[in-house]
Amino acid sequence: MAYVWRIRKKRAKRLLNEILETGYFVNCNFHPVRLTEYGWNKWDHDVDGIALTNGGKCSCCLVNCVPEPITERVAMEMAYVWHTEGDKGLAVRYGGYTPEAYDEFQRMWR
Ligand SMILES: [Zn+2]
Repeated sequence: MAYVWRIRKKRAKRLLNEILETGYFVNCNFHPVRLTEYGWNKWDHDVDGIALTNGGKCSCCLVNCVPEPITERVAMEMAYVWHTEGDKGLAVRYGGYTPEAYDEFQRMWR
């Protein structure tokens, strides 16, 4: 267990370094987020930021959510997709959903 945790933490640290470098990441809702803060200590392995889509604040855990680092250019592209196509556009283009799977997902969670 401790061994697995060490590996996950190592991966999370690498991820944090990448996100610090680009300044942007994708959160669990497939929204592009501009990094504003991060935590790296015993209990806190989070990246916090502002979504470029709806301007909402969000926070993702580097170990559990494994947010994807993206460049500013991709972040801007994703924001544009959201403004023209909404959540579904992002989920289909960047989240690996098919349009049908996304509609199904929506039905289940509404
Ligand atoms: Zn998350």
